[in-house]
Amino acid sequence: MIPDPRQTNLTIASLFGIAYDLYNPVNVHVALDMKITTQFLRMQRDETIGISEKIKAKALSTISPLVQRNSDIKIIHLLEQIEKTGKRVNLAGPPFWLDRILERMKKEGKSVHIPDSQILTGGGWKAEENKRLPEDSFREKITEFLGIPQERYHDVYAMSECSSVFLGCEGHYKHIPPVVVPLVLDEDLNQLDYEQVGRFAFLDPLPDSYPGFIITGDRVKILEHCPKCQREGPVLDVEVTRMPGFEGRGCAAVMSELMKQDGEEHTTFPVG
Ligand SMILES: [Zn+2]
Repeated sequence: MIPDPRQTNLTIASLFGIAYDLYNPVNVHVALDMKITTQFLRMQRDETIGISEKIKAKALSTISPLVQRNSDIKIIHLLEQIEKTGKRVNLAGPPFWLDRILERMKKEGKSVHIPDSQILTGGGWKAEENKRLPEDSFREKITEFLGIPQERYHDVYAMSECSSVFLGCEGHYKHIPPVVVPLVLDEDLNQLDYEQVGRFAFLDPLPDSYPGFIITGDRVKILEHCPKCQREGPVLDVEVTRMPGFEGRGCAAVMSELMKQDGEEHTTFPVG
């Protein structure tokens, strides 16, 4: 998990916060046990109002790397405990966060073997796009450092602006929920066909607070049928990347900026 969903309104936390409904809360561990308010996020982005916020923002940028490091260490320690007890766990959070933990384990020469556990990621790589691994390489990395087989790793396509999530199937294709009308657009916003690569847009009838006509900054290819399973409806091809020139948006992007350290090292991880 990411931040404690009881201490923030970030969509990604609410999404994975379902863990509190599924499990006994004493068995749910968050990577970031702190209150994350809109004021906090604004200061984090250096959008301060008044001198007092300026001072707080300065302090924040000093302590963020420490919070990040402690969070990383806490999660790695937790993974080692899980390995010892042989418990099955679900790990959930954005992929860049998980990758960051794996990188730290690599640097410290650590690995665990928890083959019965599973991983659910979502939110994409956002501001960490330059560190993105092809999904199959990322799955291999997970198996190498956590001992979790590839079929127990699933990525979901989700964003704050969409009322549904696109779940990956056993072939890792992301199935488009029937309620969403998907479109792929070219540079002039003309609609492209199946199998053509372009910018993802969709019509979402569920929101009643804004018109659900969304053009994303994501580069996708839609297949009319899933090549792997028999479930009906179109799917997003496995690799969803950012359109060139589009900055990361959404709450996973906020998370990746949360502990930015002088523009290079970023955040931590998720455990559910
Ligand atoms: Zn499928």
